[in-house]
Amino acid sequence: MSAPLLEVEGLKKHFPVRSGLFRKVTGWVHAVNGVSFTLRTGDTLGLVGESGCGKSTLGRTLIRLYEPTEGALRFEGRDIAKATSRELMPVRREMAMIFQDPYASLNPRMTVEDVVAAPMRAHGVGTTAERRARVAELLEVVGLRAGAASRYPHEFSGGQRQRVGIARALVLSPKLVIADEAVSALDVSIRAQVVNLMMRLKERFKLTYVFIAHDLSIVEYISTHVAVMYLGHVMEKASSRALYTSPKHPYTQALIAASPTPDPARRKEKQVLKGEIPSPMRPPSGCVFHTRCPLAEERCRVDVPALRDFGKPGDEHLVACHLVKE
Ligand code: SF4
Repeated sequence: MSAPLLEVEGLKKHFPVRSGLFRKVTGWVHAVNGVSFTLRTGDTLGLVGESGCGKSTLGRTLIRLYEPTEGALRFEGRDIAKATSRELMPVRREMAMIFQDPYASLNPRMTVEDVVAAPMRAHGVGTTAERRARVAELLEVVGLRAGAASRYPHEFSGGQRQRVGIARALVLSPKLVIADEAVSALDVSIRAQVVNLMMRLKERFKLTYVFIAHDLSIVEYISTHVAVMYLGHVMEKASSRALYTSPKHPYTQALIAASPTPDPARRKEKQVLKGEIPSPMRPPSGCVFHTRCPLAEERCRVDVPALRDFGKPGDEHLVACHLVKE
């Protein structure tokens, strides 16, 4: 088994809520609330949950775009949770992000060459000629013509712009790529093309992905493992195969039932999750899912369920629910 690329232990990210004339802190948004997992080289971890579950905040905290509130974060064994900006510089080259909206994440006044080469300039990598050559190489790798370099993002379709975003993410040869809803805004056929491209790039460049999406059906094809999040907590985490064939947590079961599948064997009676996701400023006591869980019992309102392993040896299957039995 390969050494861990990223180790996450009890990671929390809380944002202060300020109000009044003096902008006093009047509350906290508990966006990520004690998440732990290990990523090995070559893994693709799908992070799934409804909007507001904390998955995008977690993705950004993993690569220190956000400062963690609490918890440990180790990249190739190096502690990066408390590292200063200067200490983080070399690590930042090893991590990249592909953003949700390919158009919004690209500056419309910059040419594609400027956009893709921006991380090289920020890190002082290469001469102008070397940067131009690297951009041309990557545009070809992601399936765009070399002539695309001198054009502007608005001249491209959504799928092509996302390819530009992928080229930019790869320009410094990172090891870890966080894709935040990278294909969610694309048409289904284009989405499949971009997912296939990302899988080919993963093999070619030995990448490790965290692939964030609100829909379980999007991450199924690409993920080796999937973690289902709700209100800042991981509710279930397992290998992709185990999670889709035998989901154990009531929330995962509801998400799978709600997501479209062409496989008739997996079509379930649609369980509609009742109610809104509670505010992360006032997460429910006990199991945070109890206000919407069809199986909730009295103790669910009081006791926080621990993540317990129900997997076979060598195939971890973690579930946070009092009612799940061996
Ligand atoms: Fe539902 Fe209780 Fe399990 Fe939470 S612990 S998922 S509320 S049954």
